[in-house]
Amino acid sequence: MASIMPGNLSRCPQCGEAGKSVNGATIKCMLRVPLTAYREVDYWFCRTAQCPVVYFSGDGAQTFAEADLREPVFQKHADQAETPICYCFGFLVGDVQQPEQADRVLAVIQEGVRAGQCACDWRNPQGDCCLGNVRVMVKRASAPVR
Ligand SMILES: [Zn+2]
Repeated sequence: MASIMPGNLSRCPQCGEAGKSVNGATIKCMLRVPLTAYREVDYWFCRTAQCPVVYFSGDGAQTFAEADLREPVFQKHADQAETPICYCFGFLVGDVQQPEQADRVLAVIQEGVRAGQCACDWRNPQGDCCLGNVRVMVKRASAPVR
Protein backbone atom coordinates (compact mmCIF):
# COMPACT_ATOMS: atom_id res chain seq x y z
CA MET A 1 0.00 0.00 0.00
CA ALA A 2 1.83 3.11 -1.18
CA SER A 3 1.43 6.38 0.62
CA ILE A 4 -0.09 8.91 -1.71
CA MET A 5 -0.60 12.02 0.37
CA PRO A 6 2.27 12.64 2.79
CA GLY A 7 1.42 14.62 5.89
CA ASN A 8 -2.28 14.02 5.55
CA LEU A 9 -2.80 12.00 8.69
CA SER A 10 -2.95 13.93 11.98
CA ARG A 11 -4.99 11.46 13.99
CA CYS A 12 -3.46 8.43 15.63
CA PRO A 13 -4.08 5.38 13.42
CA GLN A 14 -4.52 3.28 16.57
CA CYS A 15 -6.82 5.31 18.87
CA GLY A 16 -8.15 7.94 16.47
CA GLU A 17 -7.33 10.90 18.72
CA ALA A 18 -5.76 14.08 17.35
CA GLY A 19 -1.97 13.95 17.49
CA LYS A 20 0.38 16.72 18.54
CA SER A 21 2.87 17.78 15.89
CA VAL A 22 6.50 17.08 16.83
CA ASN A 23 9.60 18.15 14.97
CA GLY A 24 12.16 15.84 13.44
CA ALA A 25 14.80 16.62 16.08
CA THR A 26 12.55 15.21 18.79
CA ILE A 27 11.98 12.02 16.82
CA LYS A 28 15.71 11.60 16.14
CA CYS A 29 16.59 12.12 19.79
CA MET A 30 13.87 9.85 21.13
CA LEU A 31 14.13 6.80 18.87
CA ARG A 32 16.07 3.88 20.29
CA VAL A 33 15.80 2.05 16.99
CA PRO A 34 18.38 2.89 14.26
CA LEU A 35 17.63 6.23 12.66
CA THR A 36 17.46 4.63 9.24
CA ALA A 37 13.80 4.45 10.31
CA TYR A 38 13.63 8.25 10.23
CA ARG A 39 12.12 9.81 7.11
CA GLU A 40 11.52 13.38 5.95
CA VAL A 41 7.81 13.35 6.75
CA ASP A 42 5.59 14.92 9.41
CA TYR A 43 5.54 13.11 12.74
CA TRP A 44 2.87 13.27 15.41
CA PHE A 45 2.77 12.43 19.08
CA CYS A 46 -0.17 10.46 20.54
CA ARG A 47 -1.06 11.66 24.06
CA THR A 48 -3.69 9.00 24.77
CA ALA A 49 -2.75 7.21 27.99
CA GLN A 50 -4.11 3.80 27.00
CA CYS A 51 -2.81 3.90 23.41
CA PRO A 52 0.43 1.99 22.69
CA VAL A 53 1.39 4.37 19.86
CA VAL A 54 3.74 7.21 20.83
CA TYR A 55 4.63 8.59 17.39
CA PHE A 56 3.06 8.11 13.99
CA SER A 57 4.04 9.46 10.61
CA GLY A 58 1.73 11.78 8.73
CA ASP A 59 1.70 9.47 5.74
CA GLY A 60 0.32 6.65 7.87
CA ALA A 61 3.26 4.35 7.06
CA GLN A 62 4.92 4.27 10.49
CA THR A 63 4.08 4.03 14.16
CA PHE A 64 6.52 3.90 17.07
CA ALA A 65 5.67 2.44 20.47
CA GLU A 66 7.31 3.17 23.80
CA ALA A 67 9.65 0.19 23.37
CA ASP A 68 11.10 1.94 20.30
CA LEU A 69 12.07 4.98 22.39
CA ARG A 70 14.91 5.84 24.74
CA GLU A 71 12.61 7.31 27.39
CA PRO A 72 9.42 6.28 29.17
CA VAL A 73 6.55 8.55 28.15
CA PHE A 74 4.85 10.66 30.83
CA GLN A 75 1.44 10.70 29.12
CA LYS A 76 1.30 6.91 29.03
CA HIS A 77 1.94 6.47 32.81
CA ALA A 78 1.02 9.78 34.42
CA ASP A 79 -0.42 7.94 37.42
CA GLN A 80 2.82 6.13 38.32
CA ALA A 81 5.25 7.71 40.78
CA GLU A 82 8.38 6.49 38.97
CA THR A 83 7.42 8.02 35.60
CA PRO A 84 9.53 11.00 34.51
CA ILE A 85 7.60 14.26 34.33
CA CYS A 86 10.48 16.69 33.74
CA TYR A 87 13.06 15.26 31.37
CA CYS A 88 15.49 18.18 31.63
CA PHE A 89 15.90 18.42 35.39
CA GLY A 90 15.10 14.85 36.29
CA PHE A 91 11.84 15.04 38.23
CA LEU A 92 9.42 12.14 38.50
CA VAL A 93 5.65 12.09 38.95
CA GLY A 94 6.30 11.09 42.57
CA ASP A 95 8.21 14.34 43.11
CA VAL A 96 5.12 16.46 42.49
CA GLN A 97 2.52 14.48 44.39
CA GLN A 98 3.00 16.37 47.69
CA PRO A 99 1.93 20.04 47.53
CA GLU A 100 4.98 21.52 49.26
CA GLN A 101 7.48 19.50 47.28
CA ALA A 102 5.54 20.16 44.07
CA ASP A 103 5.90 23.92 44.55
CA ARG A 104 9.66 23.53 45.01
CA VAL A 105 9.93 21.41 41.87
CA LEU A 106 7.96 23.98 39.92
CA ALA A 107 10.31 26.74 41.10
CA VAL A 108 13.41 24.73 40.12
CA ILE A 109 12.02 24.09 36.63
CA GLN A 110 11.01 27.73 36.11
CA GLU A 111 14.44 28.91 37.23
CA GLY A 112 16.09 26.41 34.86
CA VAL A 113 13.95 27.58 31.96
CA ARG A 114 14.90 31.20 32.71
CA ALA A 115 18.57 30.21 32.81
CA GLY A 116 18.30 28.57 29.40
CA GLN A 117 19.14 25.15 30.82
CA CYS A 118 16.18 23.22 29.46
CA ALA A 119 16.26 21.12 26.29
CA CYS A 120 12.66 20.01 25.96
CA ASP A 121 12.77 19.59 22.16
CA TRP A 122 15.43 16.95 22.54
CA ARG A 123 14.67 15.36 25.90
CA ASN A 124 10.92 15.35 26.35
CA PRO A 125 9.04 12.82 24.17
CA GLN A 126 6.25 15.37 23.62
CA GLY A 127 8.84 17.72 22.12
CA ASP A 128 8.15 20.75 24.26
CA CYS A 129 8.23 22.00 27.83
CA CYS A 130 6.94 19.88 30.69
CA LEU A 131 5.72 22.90 32.68
CA GLY A 132 2.08 22.49 31.62
CA ASN A 133 2.09 18.88 32.82
CA VAL A 134 3.81 19.83 36.07
CA ARG A 135 1.28 22.61 36.75
CA VAL A 136 -1.61 20.18 36.26
CA MET A 137 -0.01 17.76 38.73
CA VAL A 138 0.73 20.56 41.21
CA LYS A 139 -2.88 21.70 41.03
CA ARG A 140 -4.01 18.15 41.56
CA ALA A 141 -1.65 17.74 44.52
CA SER A 142 -2.91 20.90 46.21
CA ALA A 143 -6.61 20.23 45.54
CA PRO A 144 -8.59 19.52 48.71
CA VAL A 145 -9.35 15.83 49.17
CA ARG A 146 -13.06 15.12 48.83
ZN1 LIG B 1 -3.04 6.78 19.86
